[in-house]
Amino acid sequence: MTETSPRPASKTPQLSVCLTFDFDAVSLWTATFRSESPSEVSRGEFGPNVGVPRILELLKRQRVTATFFVPAVTARQFPDSVATIAADGHEIASHGDRHEWLVRREREVEAEIHQRALETLTNIAGTRPVGFRAPGWDLSPHTIGLLEELEFIYDSSQFGTDFHPYRARKGDVVGRYTWEPGETSALWEMPVSWELDDFPSFFIRPPDFVPGGSVDDVRSAWLAEFDYARRKALGGLFTLTLHPQIIGRGPRIEMLESLVTTMREYENVHFTTLAAVASRLSREPADAGSGGDI
Ligand SMILES: [Zn+2]
Repeated sequence: MTETSPRPASKTPQLSVCLTFDFDAVSLWTATFRSESPSEVSRGEFGPNVGVPRILELLKRQRVTATFFVPAVTARQFPDSVATIAADGHEIASHGDRHEWLVRREREVEAEIHQRALETLTNIAGTRPVGFRAPGWDLSPHTIGLLEELEFIYDSSQFGTDFHPYRARKGDVVGRYTWEPGETSALWEMPVSWELDDFPSFFIRPPDFVPGGSVDDVRSAWLAEFDYARRKALGGLFTLTLHPQIIGRGPRIEMLESLVTTMREYENVHFTTLAAVASRLSREPADAGSGGDI
């Protein structure tokens, strides 16, 4: 696509942009892929060793504050890395205890997972997380209700809209041929999408070796989504989901920085964290929806 040039804009920020980083580190390999190969698992070390330092430098240069979803096990294995992210002023949000899949967990077992993750992340980051993203973006029927009880204020695992946060439901019942929506919860849902995630385009693993996307193609696709949001979803939220071990490679981190530079040229675009967006929405009347600027 052709890049659009920045146009005159109102003084009021009208599109919030949140860069979100899922800091899975080795848990992606040990928990999600159940790998037993030290070589393969070492790919997760690229996150704290290379990806996070490059990301933090980029964010500092661009004066952008971001949200990091951290499995508690990453904080236990790489405490200095997580403490540095928090010390730089970024949001630390929960991404499970061991990056475990939640879908078929008993309610009590899942409650312990969230509690353990909260305790670990609070200790290492110094502040209590208010946001959650499910590993693999897969919630269980219990997750939203449990997060509400634990006083989280937002989740970021669902796909119900593209650029507008909405109230998450709790207790959805999903069967093979049935779907019964549950009741509305107090949590804000910060929508995600595979289109705005670095994983599908760049993740490479044998034996399939699905070709990684070119950085130019990905930049172009993300910029087109951003440009649409900036023109058609004013008052909304544009998020990217990124993984330090994936986006951290040289050409990709440079592509991300170039994209951030372009986005920052618009006066009606501002960068923020998901926690800041959720807390602003939570201060509005319960029936306000997501119609206003965030
Ligand atoms: Zn993850």
